[in-house]
Amino acid sequence: MTQTTTVQPQGQGRPVIRHPVWCDPASCTAMDGHGHHFSRVIELKALPRCPLGVAVRLSQGTAVADFPLSNVPLVQLSIADDEGELCEVGLYVEMAQELGRLLVRLSPDRRL
Ligand SMILES: [Zn+2]
Repeated sequence: MTQTTTVQPQGQGRPVIRHPVWCDPASCTAMDGHGHHFSRVIELKALPRCPLGVAVRLSQGTAVADFPLSNVPLVQLSIADDEGELCEVGLYVEMAQELGRLLVRLSPDRRL
């Protein structure tokens, strides 16, 4: 994943926003130096033995001068039960990748 949120001036002073390839136009709020790019949401539904549901999406803020972390891509996890959202966390992509590798290693379906 690259940090592709770039705003460049165009001929008539109106900036052009470059969206990451994963950005969902219907969810994106990035415009003229503020807002966020968002991917579509992937939902993991609650299971009968576990009432928690998880929604996952990528996000990336637009770059803000003097705030180098303002446009770092994040993997956002929203965890909810049948009464509503319990928490939301943002993981750096590298941490989310490590979590993914761990889950694959722990999978009972893993075939080597
Ligand atoms: Zn976007």
